[in-house]
Amino acid sequence: MNKHTKKLMKDYYKIQDFCIDILEKAEKDVKSEFEYYDEIREYNQAKVLAAFQEERISEAHFTNTTGYGYGDIGRDTLDKVYARVFNTESALVRPHFVNGTHAIGAALFGNLRPGDTLLSVCGTPYDTLHNIIGSNDNKSMGSLRDYNIKHKQVDLKDSKLDFDAIKSALSEDSSIKIVHIQRSTGYGWRKSLQISEIEKLITFVKSVKPNVICFVDNCYGELIDVKEPTDVGADLIAGSLIKNIGGGIAPTGGYIAGKEELVENASYRLTVPGIGGECGSTFGVMRSFYQGLFLAPHIAIEAVKGAVLCARVMELAGYEVLPHYTDRRSDIIQAIKFNDKEKLINFCKGIQKGSPIDSFVQCEPWDMPGYEDQVIMAAGAFIQGSSIELSADAPIREPYIAYMQGGLTLEHIKVGILMALNNVGQI
Ligand SMILES: *Cc1c(COP(=O)(O)O)cnc(C)c1O
Repeated sequence: MNKHTKKLMKDYYKIQDFCIDILEKAEKDVKSEFEYYDEIREYNQAKVLAAFQEERISEAHFTNTTGYGYGDIGRDTLDKVYARVFNTESALVRPHFVNGTHAIGAALFGNLRPGDTLLSVCGTPYDTLHNIIGSNDNKSMGSLRDYNIKHKQVDLKDSKLDFDAIKSALSEDSSIKIVHIQRSTGYGWRKSLQISEIEKLITFVKSVKPNVICFVDNCYGELIDVKEPTDVGADLIAGSLIKNIGGGIAPTGGYIAGKEELVENASYRLTVPGIGGECGSTFGVMRSFYQGLFLAPHIAIEAVKGAVLCARVMELAGYEVLPHYTDRRSDIIQAIKFNDKEKLINFCKGIQKGSPIDSFVQCEPWDMPGYEDQVIMAAGAFIQGSSIELSADAPIREPYIAYMQGGLTLEHIKVGILMALNNVGQI
């Protein structure tokens, strides 16, 4: 950090000296990690560019239809570009998916039938999936359970996949149609699943039960590795466009990619049976979707670098972090354990204070729809709730873990980390 930046940090942002010292030390420590991720980014940028060129993208793809949206070439061709990036037969990329949960829900509802069972093999699924599954004892919302689709779960053993238990679960129950794999940690305290681990898992699952559908919740995982789950056997994946793959530019939306038949089935839950992905005008968002995808390899790694730096900074400040800064990553999330409610809240408030939008707002815990505990979210983002932009969130429950992610530029992430550390202090 040069003297001009330091002066600004002290005079304007009121950052204490110890924070700047820690950041400078951390920056030296993470250099070789950054080089590793730069190489992934270089490959993925070329991969995405090639997909654009193969599909001969031009100005015409940025126009949009109205009404029914039949033959919207921007929309239909973007599906093909995504299918190339993910190496799949088919993809469905839509602004009509309100979020990642919606895309995941369509993938599951579209491919499960009464009497089928969904098996989660990475422990408890992400919080917002609980209502889709129907594992909460609340009123009938048309969950999978309401349609007589059961859910079973294999817990992690010492934070690792429990292959023996997965094998017994699969062998015991012939009604298992989909195996649900979650790449990212969600609000857990475990490492994200590496592509190599997903490959081993899928190969194993198929060896026990060849016809089962392997579905991967790919949220936060896109473009962090040179391969995606669909390169190593996943039949179907889904995710959000206001995370990695939207590149910080897509204003809303979600995607599904995978085998043609499975994506088509999902499309009948996005709209209705018989209509699927053939309808749906696109409100002029196509240019943003294309441009976001083009920038996504760069932005996703920018966010990963921010997470690596945050891990080292918070560790040097005395906190327990996961993953460690030298751990290989498969998502953009950095978890920091505070064991203290006030510190957790202050960390999030620090991130908010460092935001370009709503920096003057004090974020507070609230009852967010779809979540069981209160949740605090620091999200001073251009796009509401976008977590490829610098954000931090946490369910308010022990042991008070903050999840920091995103950031469109590393320089901004640094300011956010400094503001957050300044707010919580070192141990
Ligand atoms: C973000 C996320 C989702 C979907 O969340 P939305 O806010 O609905 O986009 C699902 N699973 C995981 C693991 C996630 O991180």
